[in-house]
Amino acid sequence: MQGLMMDYPLTMERILEHANRLYPRKRISTVLPDETVHRYTWADLHSRSKRLASALEGLGIEPGDRVGTFAWNNYQHLELYFAAPCIGAVCHTLNIRLSPDQLAYIISHAEDRVIFVDATLLPRFEAVIAGLSRCPRIVLFNVKPGIRIDLPDAIGYEALIAGGSDSFEWPANDENAAMGLCYTSGTTGEPRGALYSHRSMFLHTLGVNQSNALGLVESDVVMPVVPQFHAMAWGLPYACAAAGAELVLPGPHLNPAALARTIADEGVTVAAGVPTIWTGLYEALKVNPRDVSSVRALIVGGAAMPRGLIEAYETELDVPVVHAWGMTELSPLGTVSRLQRHHRALPDADRWDVKARQGYPICGVDMRIVDDSGNEAPWDGSSMGEVQVRGPWVIGRYYRQDPSPDHFTADGWFRTGDVGSMSPDGFLTITDRTRDLIKSGGEWISSVALENALMDHPAVTEAAVIAVPDAKWTERPFAIAVRSPNADPVAAEALQALLASAYPKYWVPDRIVFVEQIPKTSVGKLDKKVIRRQYTEGKFG
Ligand code: AMP
Repeated sequence: MQGLMMDYPLTMERILEHANRLYPRKRISTVLPDETVHRYTWADLHSRSKRLASALEGLGIEPGDRVGTFAWNNYQHLELYFAAPCIGAVCHTLNIRLSPDQLAYIISHAEDRVIFVDATLLPRFEAVIAGLSRCPRIVLFNVKPGIRIDLPDAIGYEALIAGGSDSFEWPANDENAAMGLCYTSGTTGEPRGALYSHRSMFLHTLGVNQSNALGLVESDVVMPVVPQFHAMAWGLPYACAAAGAELVLPGPHLNPAALARTIADEGVTVAAGVPTIWTGLYEALKVNPRDVSSVRALIVGGAAMPRGLIEAYETELDVPVVHAWGMTELSPLGTVSRLQRHHRALPDADRWDVKARQGYPICGVDMRIVDDSGNEAPWDGSSMGEVQVRGPWVIGRYYRQDPSPDHFTADGWFRTGDVGSMSPDGFLTITDRTRDLIKSGGEWISSVALENALMDHPAVTEAAVIAVPDAKWTERPFAIAVRSPNADPVAAEALQALLASAYPKYWVPDRIVFVEQIPKTSVGKLDKKVIRRQYTEGKFG
């Protein structure tokens, strides 16, 4: 027997209409390139998105067409987050930090019809155009009078939407139609596209706002430092619209001092970004204290948050940290590490151990750990294997790619490529990426665990560990580390002794080399591909 409830399409315009109806006066603030703050409301965003939608149709954009963006986090970018999907088109966010070649590949692969480019990024984008066989139509955000634009046919954003109508009626959208496209940053391998649907993003939005997840509420002021080109800013703009929260978009001003100022000036309650951002902010706040007491949740994901940094934020700055794990392919939220009732009795030190884990799967994400022999591992806190997931906001196949067994199992699960274990109470601990595990003398070594241990030393700000070939043991761990400017220098031998006190002897890297900085991917993660290449080229002696 079928249920008898309405077949109500879960589409993006429902979320936008909800924000406009319920929270029209709630603010959206953007730090502009000249550091002044642009402010308007969800009602303003609603009417401008309608103008933009009708102008997009005027440009000939049809359902299913890809509309590219090449921009910082700002209100115009946000208008595209709604206007493109709400006319059935696909908002395709381009990662501004990729190389011109990678971007040209992605734009050609996605066949973007039009791309909205931040004028401040024009020089970077011109290098991309040189590699395209056919240049899409270009629309420019933040055009200043007098700026020289050499692109044929480029138009200014304000001029475009001035010709649109704010009484535009949304067409009826199919909840299974595509609404957003993000290529993964390629920590390993070629970029691959995750194509979100209205339904998947709607359900992800409800998932994010579960109180056991990120739980945004009407009184929040949310600052996504995570770029809008990284998995739709982790879905936070849609979650804010659904909750009626205010948004603060930092524009191009991502340096720690600027972020500290924005948090203090805007009264940010929830800020979200990768650990590198929060390491920088912590150091900036130590040197130049600011009032960050408004922050009720510092959300960190995209890479493991070192335990020492969680402890430092919570004890020294009184800022609660919410560690989360996810992937572009998961829209992106998968797990959240919040303390549960049974953790209350734990001493503080153990609580930070819990928070340093990746957390429990939120309702809507099924998770299992599968060992090397293909068997599901028990949730016993020690059995390790590949993390596999399934759920309504988990990728079913990559855009324009046949599903391969490297990514999808025959019984319908997505293979994350992350390796980890589950505790009996359902907390995921990621120990590595499949490719980052080190196998030495037949035994596994976790590079992530070594990195975290090194970064817990006060004299080390960052560390990366890779596997290097070894004639006797097949592989050995090799570490690079960045010395903290605020502590007495530490010797490699002292760090090796520290590791030896915590891990089996064979885990200790034979060499730890100090470097000025560690190569990062475009979204701020350790770029092990580059480190491996530098190692092979003899950069570390
Ligand atoms: P991306 O799709 O660029 O967001 O990358 C997703 C990958 O980042 C995951 O598969 C993990 O390898 C890594 N990652 C994300 N969040 C965490 C976390 N909290 N701890 C450890 N690794 C993480």
